[in-house]
Amino acid sequence: MNYFKKLLILPVTVLTFHFSSCAPTAGPAMNDNGQINTVRASNSLLQQGVQQFEAMKRKKRISTNPTYNAQMQRVAARLKRTINMPGARWEFVVFEDPTPNAFALPGGKVGVHTGLFPITKTDGGLAAVLGHEISHVTRNHAGSRKTQATGLALGGLILDQIAKRGGTSGADRAKLGALYGAGATVGFALPHSRKAELEADRIGTIYMAKAGYNPNEAVAMWQRFADYNRTKGRGSQPEFLRTHPLDTTRINALRAFLPTAMREYNRR
Ligand SMILES: [Zn+2]
Repeated sequence: MNYFKKLLILPVTVLTFHFSSCAPTAGPAMNDNGQINTVRASNSLLQQGVQQFEAMKRKKRISTNPTYNAQMQRVAARLKRTINMPGARWEFVVFEDPTPNAFALPGGKVGVHTGLFPITKTDGGLAAVLGHEISHVTRNHAGSRKTQATGLALGGLILDQIAKRGGTSGADRAKLGALYGAGATVGFALPHSRKAELEADRIGTIYMAKAGYNPNEAVAMWQRFADYNRTKGRGSQPEFLRTHPLDTTRINALRAFLPTAMREYNRR
């Protein structure tokens, strides 16, 4: 029984670097019936995602804000019902952190910072963000990277990339790598590939539409995020925007996809 259960685990992920050259193995993201083709991730990737999330929960403060937590669980519950991903271990946690950020990890672990809620505002706005993050998981965007095949640990790799950016020496990088093993949190500072971002935007609106949230709210929310960046993000761009480059091209692409998403919304 346990063995059988193990076989059923079809984990997943997020967090991509620039690796647009390798497409997910699973063909079109959505079929004509509006069903999302999920992509299974390796068990080791799942393991890393779960471990990293556990480490984050120990290290970061989990929010006790009753409004944010209630909204998170309310919206997540509706979205979860629209996802067919056997073996995913969905978990949605609000972290106490003023920077507007959200992320997802292999296996279905999703985190949202308290600082994002003033931007998402409505249930629909939050559904757009969660739908986006869920899509990184169900489409296994992290697992589609070629580097995955080298067998290097995801977290270690990310740390290494960060260290390189910061000009850290090779020896220090090795230490950082060891840190990851000890449960350091990491990884969210790297840009997703543009392709993965656009796909997550599109699929995210399908999830929100199926859950009964009007996909137009996604455009409004990303617009609010862009406005936030213009007024408050100058100088120090929010982490989410470094990992999720947000520009008019991206918002326009989403707008162009709205008729498809609305079809799912009206089909319910
Ligand atoms: Zn993303």
